[in-house]
Amino acid sequence: MNDILPADSALWQYLDRTVADLLAGYGYQQIRLPIVEPTELFKRSIGEVTDIVEKEMYTFDDRNGDSLTLRPEGTAGCVRAMLQHGLLGGGVGHKVWYTGPMFRHERPQKGRYRQFHQIGVETFNFAGPDVDAELIVLSWRLWQRLGISGAVKLELNSLGSSEDRARYRDDLVAYLQARFDQLDEDSQRRLASNPLRILDSKNPDTQALLVEAPKLADYLNEEARAHFAGLRKLLDAVGIPYEINPRLVRGLDYYGLTVFEWVTDQLGAQGTVCAGGRYDGLVTQLGGKPAPAVGFAMGMERLLLLIETLEQVPAELARQVDVYLVTLGEAAELAGLRLAEQLRDALPELRLVVHAGGGSFKSQFKKADKSGALFALVLGEDEVSAEQIGLKPLRSGAEQENLSWQALPARLAEII
Ligand code: ATP
Ligand code: MG
Repeated sequence: MNDILPADSALWQYLDRTVADLLAGYGYQQIRLPIVEPTELFKRSIGEVTDIVEKEMYTFDDRNGDSLTLRPEGTAGCVRAMLQHGLLGGGVGHKVWYTGPMFRHERPQKGRYRQFHQIGVETFNFAGPDVDAELIVLSWRLWQRLGISGAVKLELNSLGSSEDRARYRDDLVAYLQARFDQLDEDSQRRLASNPLRILDSKNPDTQALLVEAPKLADYLNEEARAHFAGLRKLLDAVGIPYEINPRLVRGLDYYGLTVFEWVTDQLGAQGTVCAGGRYDGLVTQLGGKPAPAVGFAMGMERLLLLIETLEQVPAELARQVDVYLVTLGEAAELAGLRLAEQLRDALPELRLVVHAGGGSFKSQFKKADKSGALFALVLGEDEVSAEQIGLKPLRSGAEQENLSWQALPARLAEII
């Protein structure tokens, strides 16, 4: 679980801002959800026989003896909230997003942490595939805005209907049963409990065994095929390249029809930066009337690692301060504080640090320089009596200007 220190927070804020602006532009609204939910919610939605529920959840009994879990993902809580507040009735469409920490007891490594952050986007009561395409289009636009679009590619698959998967499961189990001894231990266990999970096994021998296995794509019904074809047509129309990955099944049980991942080869083993799909069955599974749903979640740490790796951190993030005010003597300190507040009225965007802690001009200038500010504002006794102020460029050899207090806001607006 990582601390995000002051030096790193500007980049996090940049990602938050970029995502919030982009989603507002597509008409998505934010939903803010609790960090704990009843343990049962995750068991029922993610599935009992998944890595997350079997071995990754932080679960505890509260003082009433209720079992609670630190959320390992956001979809379950989001559906719970939409249902609890009656928002899914009447077929009304909703497009929402959330952001925040998620918790999974995994083996920590680069791009994999026990507290990590996701931005999740979910839509309800849209049967698609138009909205499936919209989610992919908006994520693609996000990669463009973040400058990482050249380093991620889209993998796509269709999981069909639950009947399709049931028929497929039988044939897959028969195929793997005949090769039981060659399976890794996890996969052997899953063959009885959740055989589709074996498809995304990371074990190379198991992967090799799967090359010849039956393909889910061959089991899709007419409707599932039409849905998938519809999605592909839309993606082709906007020109988003993708690869069909027949073994993409996702690590959670609630998906059906469309599943997708955005993957990169720039981050080593933790290559998936964004993953999602359709989960039309989840709302009824959690006790609601049927409501189609599709969404995705992206991992913020992995996106930030990618932005850094590709050197796409915007240059303006390096500077957090525009102007640093130094004063000498009590009269200047009082006038300086007043002036600073007037500047904040006139220029609400201005990032102005008022020196605190006294000291000589020389030591204050050192701090001004270190702050990264472009200019120092200089106020001594003489300036106060003349109602003037010095404007000293800190990043160029240019001369200090002296201005009247009245002229200062307009001058700063010009140069910053
Ligand atoms: P992975 O295959 O990498 O374990 P996942 O399938 O478990 O990912 P999801 O549950 O789909 O991941 O979560 C969506 C995204 O959240 C992932 O694509 C990834 O970017 C991010 N993510 C998931 N788990 C972690 C983690 N432990 N640390 C950091 N990011 C994570
Ligand atoms: Mg995982």
